[in-house]
Amino acid sequence: MLRLEGAQLNYGSFRALDGISIHAEPGELVVMLGANGAGKSSLFLAISGLRKLSRGNIWFKDQNIAGRKPSQIVQSGVVHCPEGRKLFPEMSVRKNLLLGAYVHRQDKKESEKILDQVFEMFPILYEKRHDMAGSLSGGQQQMVAIGRALMGRPQVLLLDEPSLGLAPLVVKQVLGVIKAINDKGTTVLLAEQNAYAALQIAHRAYVIESGRIVMEGDRDTLLNDERVRKAYIGA
Ligand code: ATP
Repeated sequence: MLRLEGAQLNYGSFRALDGISIHAEPGELVVMLGANGAGKSSLFLAISGLRKLSRGNIWFKDQNIAGRKPSQIVQSGVVHCPEGRKLFPEMSVRKNLLLGAYVHRQDKKESEKILDQVFEMFPILYEKRHDMAGSLSGGQQQMVAIGRALMGRPQVLLLDEPSLGLAPLVVKQVLGVIKAINDKGTTVLLAEQNAYAALQIAHRAYVIESGRIVMEGDRDTLLNDERVRKAYIGA
């Protein structure tokens, strides 16, 4: 469904992605593990067209989307939920969510229908729909960011560090929601430093270090790998 071949991305003379090849099949939940600065965000920025690759291809359902505009990429079904949530704190939860539907320029009725589905998934956001997004807790704000991405009707959802800065119990809730989204059929690519928790919900994972894939495997293989446990799980 989504496949990168030899993706290379430079910031000036610094190579942030150094020949990355990965794939995600329909319905898969694939985790990208890696420390700070490993290149996870750069990878997602490249997939969503916000950064240009200097080499390589990005295939989404048999079309090479490398070089396309971010708006075209979202419209085709690849939606990015960025690190740091990037909400409008002084706008209501409802308005923040509706912004995610803007890219499809669909009629109001259709947006309201998807909004209802998002509220069904996040009842707390329905309760707080008229509150300013900035007044919500960190976990609730992350739910808004994920809900806004869902408003774009993703076939592939790119989630960059959704658990960043959240308390362990809240991390569990957020990852539970991500699993539910995947269970309903959306393909998910999830970047996480919280390796143990993320692997629990993953089908497969890649380990990225200094812009390169250094390991890949299914959930159990990585959970049981001694190098992964030492470097990312702390066991
Ligand atoms: P984090 O979780 O901290 O965001 P990451 O794995 O997502 O880490 P990236 O943000 O992709 O890593 O960064 C990869 C490397 O590229 C890092 O060394 C970072 O300092 C560098 N980098 C990122 N953005 C830029 C930029 N705009 N200009 C120059 N270097 C950058």
